[in-house]
Amino acid sequence: MSTGERVVAFAPGRVNLIGDHTDYTGGFAMPMTVGLGTEASFQPDPSAPAIEVTSSLEGEPGRIPLSIPAQPLELAMVLPEWARYVGAVVAVVRPTSGGKAEVSSDLPVGAGLSSSAALEVALALALGAEETGRELALTCQRAEQLATGVKTGILDQLAIVSGRAGHAMLLDCGTLGVRYVEVPTDELEFVVVDSGVRRSVSETAYGLREAECAEAARLLGPLRHVSPRQVDGIADHVIRRRARHVVSENARVLAFAGMLERAELEEAGRLLDESHRSLAIDFEVSVPELDELVTWLQGLPGVLGARLTGAGFGGCALALARPGVLGRRLGTRRHWVVAPGGGARRC
Ligand code: ADP
Ligand code: MG
Repeated sequence: MSTGERVVAFAPGRVNLIGDHTDYTGGFAMPMTVGLGTEASFQPDPSAPAIEVTSSLEGEPGRIPLSIPAQPLELAMVLPEWARYVGAVVAVVRPTSGGKAEVSSDLPVGAGLSSSAALEVALALALGAEETGRELALTCQRAEQLATGVKTGILDQLAIVSGRAGHAMLLDCGTLGVRYVEVPTDELEFVVVDSGVRRSVSETAYGLREAECAEAARLLGPLRHVSPRQVDGIADHVIRRRARHVVSENARVLAFAGMLERAELEEAGRLLDESHRSLAIDFEVSVPELDELVTWLQGLPGVLGARLTGAGFGGCALALARPGVLGRRLGTRRHWVVAPGGGARRC
């Protein structure tokens, strides 16, 4: 039995500073990668017809046949559930050899730091994906959609492949363009605080929100080109509110990028507060625990702004704060002070 060389890859998690539920409408978002992440290793065995996979976070291993079809219905049969992501990556990367894959991660799962995309990207690189940059992001987005059965956007995967130390990224999810913005880390701190509420993309109303935005775009055209006045003209009050979130959030992302560049931090903080209001009221993706946490954070001295981050329905809040003011206040509450890290890579 001949075995090939072991391949190891790392993919960071990401925190979205602003711009949630804009990516799947081709809008704007501003994430940065973080120091936490997922490592995947692959030891090929050309005689093996499947990939045996273990995860440091899961008790039960998975076994994915190399011939697994790239079909959501087939992937939905894979057990244990977490291995569906592995099955989907195998289906889109199509490694030529079976073998043993090991995954380990220090990212919280289902908390909005994108453990799922970190898993996809690290594994795709370990299994020998030849693409890099935005092509790799698109491949892994396809894997996420296959694994969850939801038309998820490109934000997570594009952020994770593009990360650059010291920088946040202004992502144009329509053109897949990336503009890097330096983060003035000596003047501010980004703190991610866990609400403790867990959710998974396929169990939430994510798919419904995607469909509501598609309906708004059917009425008015691509939402990134739509004005607030046009939104006011939508008759259906639910679709109108969903569109109002997307249109106003796109404008906030662009404004936030400029403020970060000019280190106008008080103003940038206020945009985070507005973003939360819009996600909670117009887009209805918050939950009481997150609203309470965000309101508490917003009231603390030295906190410039706070919002839910990620898809919502649970997960984490993000606070923009003056350095060092928050740690003490948070006590035993699970939190991470995050600094902009690098991008995904083979090790
Ligand atoms: P998020 O991406 O915000 O962490 P998701 O609901 O999108 O939340 O993805 C979480 C799911 O991804 C988990 O339920 C699990 O199935 C899978 N997952 C992510 N990281 C790992 C890992 N290291 N090991 C096993 N499964 C993982
Ligand atoms: Mg995810």
